[in-house]
Amino acid sequence: LPEPGGQCVALYPDKPIYDVPGIPVCTGRELAAQLLAQARPFVPADGSTLHLNQQVMSLAVDDAHPLGKHRFHLKSGAGTEFMARCVIVSAGAGAFVHKALAIPGLDTAQAPANLHHQLLNANIAAPWAGQHLVVAGGGDEALQTVLDLANANITQGPARLTLLHRRDQFQAEASLEAAVRGLISSGQVQLVLGVPQACELDTSGTQPVLRALTLSTADGAAPLMLDHLLVRLGMSPKLGPLSEWGLALERKQVSVNPSTFESSVPGIYAVGDINTYPGKKRLLLCGFHEATLAAHAASLALHPETPQHLLYTTTSPLLHQRLGLI
Ligand SMILES: Cc1cc2nc3c(=O)[nH]c(=O)nc-3n(C[C@H](O)[C@H](O)[C@H](O)COP(=O)(O)OP(=O)(O)OC[C@H]3O[C@@H](n4cnc5c(N)ncnc54)[C@H](O)[C@@H]3O)c2cc1C
Repeated sequence: LPEPGGQCVALYPDKPIYDVPGIPVCTGRELAAQLLAQARPFVPADGSTLHLNQQVMSLAVDDAHPLGKHRFHLKSGAGTEFMARCVIVSAGAGAFVHKALAIPGLDTAQAPANLHHQLLNANIAAPWAGQHLVVAGGGDEALQTVLDLANANITQGPARLTLLHRRDQFQAEASLEAAVRGLISSGQVQLVLGVPQACELDTSGTQPVLRALTLSTADGAAPLMLDHLLVRLGMSPKLGPLSEWGLALERKQVSVNPSTFESSVPGIYAVGDINTYPGKKRLLLCGFHEATLAAHAASLALHPETPQHLLYTTTSPLLHQRLGLI
């Protein structure tokens, strides 16, 4: 994902959470922001220790590595590589990927150049600026996108904005729906009802370009011409490459020892929704506990000769130093 926060940020950023100890209520996005602020001594604001927008594709044991046994070799789809002595997997229900429109031609390995799934960095001129953009979807994500684009400045906003949905009923927050209905009534946004069945592609260049969608509508098949298509159907988690990392799995979750959260591969730990053990509960609170015990177990495994003392943040000078307080 482009930002940290997992499900809290991707699936329920504005919903209230009431069961995180010590925080009577906060939204998903607020919790992620608080956790990041707390982790700041170890995750600096310059992002140098955070590697976003890429999926870990492989995790292998590299016994031949000169630094010794159990050197884990991680590789991301973007080409980032790490060698590590221990790894903590916190992959939730899998990597979040944008839901795609299921039409022949749009799910090919070579996607059309004018097919998009996310809004772009506000500092970069949007490719659809001054053109006809169709936003597909009828949930919070699609409607918020339409609202943002209708209010966007000249470098980000399309000249013509169409919202495409299968029926004249949205699954979004009432206030968001009211705002988008207002844009439709005033003519700033055109609402097109129909289900995409096929597409027209121009394949004369190096990368295909989407010219039109063929919609199934109440009046039969109808073409929808467009310059750019932004699909906003939400996100869904996919376990993806994790199933090939050689970890013992039970119903698509990593089996762990509940006293250390170590997986079947010594040195690889799993915490949060991705793991399973007797009594497992998929709750934020449980993830915090599991991460704590996994960190202690990993520390002991990495430094077996060093006595492992439990230190309190309230009183330990060492922890104060690590937190940058002294
Ligand atoms: C609608 C909803 C409401 C909820 N409300 C509550 C609540 O009120 N209280 C509560 O305690 N819990 C709640 N939960 C559950 C809670 O959100 C989860 O237990 C928690 O988010 C699990 O955290 P996690 O870090 O294990 O996984 P996730 O939050 O799923 O994060 C995993 C992250 O890893 C990334 N990832 C996965 N695989 C890869 C890969 N190969 N490469 C790179 N990145 C990868 C994913 O993209 C994701 O960002 C709710 C869940 C939902 C869906």
